[in-house]
Amino acid sequence: MTRVAGVEVDTRHWIGGERVASSQTFADVSPIDGQVIAHIARGGAAEASAAVAAAAHAFPGWAAIGREERAALLHAIADGVDKRLEELAAVETTDNGALLRSHRRGVMPRVAHNFRFFADWLLELGREDFETRGHRNHVSWDPAGPCALITPWNAPLMLATWKIAPALAAGNTVVLKPAEWSPLTASLLADIAHAAGLPPGVLNVVQGYGAEVGEPLVADPRVRRISFTGSVPTARRIAGLASANLTPLSLELGGKSPLLVFADADLDQAADLAVEQYDNAGQVCLAATRLLVESAVAEEFTARFLERARALVQGDPRDEETDVGPSIHPRHVERVDGFVRRALAGGARALIGGGRPTTGQGFFYPPTLLTDVEPGTEILTEEVFGPVLTLQTFDDEAQAVAMANDTTYGLAAVVVTGDPERAERVAGRLVAGTVWVNCFFVRDLRAPFGGSRRSGVGREGGDWSFDFYCDVKNTVSAP
Ligand code: NAD
Repeated sequence: MTRVAGVEVDTRHWIGGERVASSQTFADVSPIDGQVIAHIARGGAAEASAAVAAAAHAFPGWAAIGREERAALLHAIADGVDKRLEELAAVETTDNGALLRSHRRGVMPRVAHNFRFFADWLLELGREDFETRGHRNHVSWDPAGPCALITPWNAPLMLATWKIAPALAAGNTVVLKPAEWSPLTASLLADIAHAAGLPPGVLNVVQGYGAEVGEPLVADPRVRRISFTGSVPTARRIAGLASANLTPLSLELGGKSPLLVFADADLDQAADLAVEQYDNAGQVCLAATRLLVESAVAEEFTARFLERARALVQGDPRDEETDVGPSIHPRHVERVDGFVRRALAGGARALIGGGRPTTGQGFFYPPTLLTDVEPGTEILTEEVFGPVLTLQTFDDEAQAVAMANDTTYGLAAVVVTGDPERAERVAGRLVAGTVWVNCFFVRDLRAPFGGSRRSGVGREGGDWSFDFYCDVKNTVSAP
């Protein structure tokens, strides 16, 4: 047990309804001030195996529970999240440095909503019946078994529950491995689920490093689904391990999304949307980091963008007036800065930001906008995952679409235009899992979510989640 932001957090694993320690621990550091806030159980193959065993043991009982009862338990978890919302928000902000005000008003309510949404969707889940030459086809969604869920640090509890809620609703049991840079709220969620009455072994949480506990988890043949959110290199490793058992995979990966501003756009709206891409210090998979602006309005757009970007307040994420908090870890700041330094060395210019601050204890990197970037260089092709945007111009719609699609990713795109026909045309030609027109980050859990190309495999959300987390079955009966 340790106290973080005034909240008791258990730093051990949660396996089979019990707290389990490991012989080793690792330090969890707050990005706000670089202080060690907890020593977390450092799991390995033994803990991964014990957690999968607990999930496999609990599976038949959980799968056999009626839909209504399952849904009621998920609602009870959502109520528990609501009850502890302030604590969850405070702990997560201390752990990963994202804004407290976003956790309070956006993220944690969404965590509760994840449970409620999939509980309600389960009750509505369609049963398809149709006839073939007098024979009845009956389609059903059977639970698949234990699921391994592996998540990143940038939105820890939101991304974890986006997987846990549909997996449990579908009748599966789960083992969650949260990111080692933000392990705390997953532990609180285990407490909340236990208090809500979730049977032992239905939700398990193992802590530790990916290579040590994550790999044996995804390689375990008893695991029937792997859902992973994280980076492309890790996804490749996981897919390789999953291939031995042909375990079905859902991969939600990185992006290099474009934001297109056409000359007919409302330029204030365009500038607002562009500055929003610094949200969470740019550590958002969906962030549209490549600003592509029609030449005729580039100067005016840039002026309006810079006015807003310069007004952003960077600082302690617990302060209400802070707009941009710290980056997650010194290693990450180093990585982000490396991208910027190499771009500048290659001839790019920083219109704002462009270097690490020399003072302060936290891991801060300033909002940065680079222009005059060399086409084809890494700053335009690789995901930086920090508060770094690039600005390029285009002369017509065809060029805009070509530049937008000139990436190996395909997670999202933002189109800013005053012409609805253009919006439809351009959206239709963009390679992206989600296209936002004159908006950003509007998410409906009924909608499919995922990426094209290197941004991922599969879609989750609504029916897509149940299709993934279930063994879909067709039963054909003679007349
Ligand atoms: P990461 O791939 O380094 O780590 C993600 C998780 O995988 C962590 O829990 C980590 O411990 C685990 N892991 C690492 N190596 C592993 C291995 N060999 N086997 C099993 N598990 C392993 O990613 P990150 O740095 O934590 O997160 C940032 C990335 O996540 C970015 O690329 C970002 O775009 C992406 N992301 C995608 C989405 C989406 O929905 N598409 C959402 C958020 C973040």
